[in-house]
Amino acid sequence: MLTTLIYQSQLSAECSDNDLRILSHVACEKNISMQVTGILLFNGTEFFQVLEGEEHDVEPLFRHICDDLRHTEVVELMRDYSAYRRFGDTGMTLFDLRKVDTKALVDEIRHMNQAQYRDLPDDRVFRFIKRFINQGGWYRSSENFKPSQWKMASNNYSRQITPQISEQGNICTFAFQPIVEPITGHISSFEALIRSPEGKSPEELFASISSESLYTFDLESKAIALQQAGRMLRTDEKISINLFPGSLYSVPGSVALLSEQIRQANLRPDQVIIEVLETELIIRMNDFHHSLKEIRAAGIGIAIDDFGSGYSRLSLLSKFQPDKIKLDRALIVDIHKNGIKQAMIAAMVKYCEDMGIKLVAEGVEKKEEWCWLQSIGVRLFQGYLFSRPCLNGIGEVYWPVRIGEDQNIG
Ligand code: C2E
Ligand code: MN
Ligand code: MN
Repeated sequence: MLTTLIYQSQLSAECSDNDLRILSHVACEKNISMQVTGILLFNGTEFFQVLEGEEHDVEPLFRHICDDLRHTEVVELMRDYSAYRRFGDTGMTLFDLRKVDTKALVDEIRHMNQAQYRDLPDDRVFRFIKRFINQGGWYRSSENFKPSQWKMASNNYSRQITPQISEQGNICTFAFQPIVEPITGHISSFEALIRSPEGKSPEELFASISSESLYTFDLESKAIALQQAGRMLRTDEKISINLFPGSLYSVPGSVALLSEQIRQANLRPDQVIIEVLETELIIRMNDFHHSLKEIRAAGIGIAIDDFGSGYSRLSLLSKFQPDKIKLDRALIVDIHKNGIKQAMIAAMVKYCEDMGIKLVAEGVEKKEEWCWLQSIGVRLFQGYLFSRPCLNGIGEVYWPVRIGEDQNIG
């Protein structure tokens, strides 16, 4: 199937005019033999390339391009299928934007268009080309947050707290994972993640509970998490708990029960944030609305969990704005390589800034992901890179430290 793939990248070293000519000549020969066509733009530091060809040719070629050491920070911007080739059999043409009249260039490129339908003023590929010519690359990572300049260092911070055991034995246990703000070196909150008494995953635990008692179980289990938090947390620290929306709207007096659990744990309501899943919120927003008012009135915080994982409807955010939005891990994975996710996250950063909502990136595992997110303006992070969930306590926390400066950013 005919595929169009667009990427941008950064030149890694000095590149003379001659190097550039050789590079484009070799690429052109290779692409022609594979019947991959397109254009390559270069503005002195950045490359922008459109590749068109059969999917089974473009895929391996792009993987090969990603491994080429002559450029770095390869970011995919578009991948789509198409009914026709825009660049016919022209091979691969290089345009050095420092040497051509950029005003006439868009038209020149448009005239290379061999497609049957010549006039394609609205074609997305040409919009991309025009944007690169006029504005350069997309979301260039900031000089301050180059992954090679940073290392992760532990400050030997960990706490353990044994749960108080009820007479019947506890129905579950909790692992805690910090949500960190690397710029200030501050831990924004700790998330309580449920485990079976033997330490098994939430999925396995919930599967062993009958559907009639699931919501009550979920709600009652929070007494254990809150109690542990009450003994573990300082007065300026917060705890996040997870609840099915159903645990709130279908159990009578649920918010009153939570308030009582919070009081008994010697916590203040403003130290507690309830995380609810985006997918379930969308389906049950009307049922949930009443609980939402009660949560607000009780002074408890609310977060939308796994944002972007479900069939996100922006209308959800027009109906209510939470204190916090947690971006789903699926959006975070390899964010530094994916221009499509980058544009979405940049828009979410802006939305949250404008609306005073805290934004958390979940499941951050790589330094590169953190660097990109930090440069675009995300401040709060959760993930194995910083700290893993720890049963009955808080594990070691790793902070980014600038190499050579042995201190945190803050
Ligand atoms: P969640 O609320 O989105 O919690 C984050 C999950 O991502 C946790 O999995 C955590 O261990 C995992 N995680 C954290 N950092 C990373 C990372 O860097 N990489 C990867 N791959 N994963 C990371 P866990 O503990 O298995 O929990 C899974 C889900 O179970 C939670 O997702 C939450 O939706 C649900 N859950 C947990 N505790 C409760 C609870 O008390 N009640 C309810 N209703 N649901 C709960
Ligand atoms: Mn959660
Ligand atoms: Mn989540």
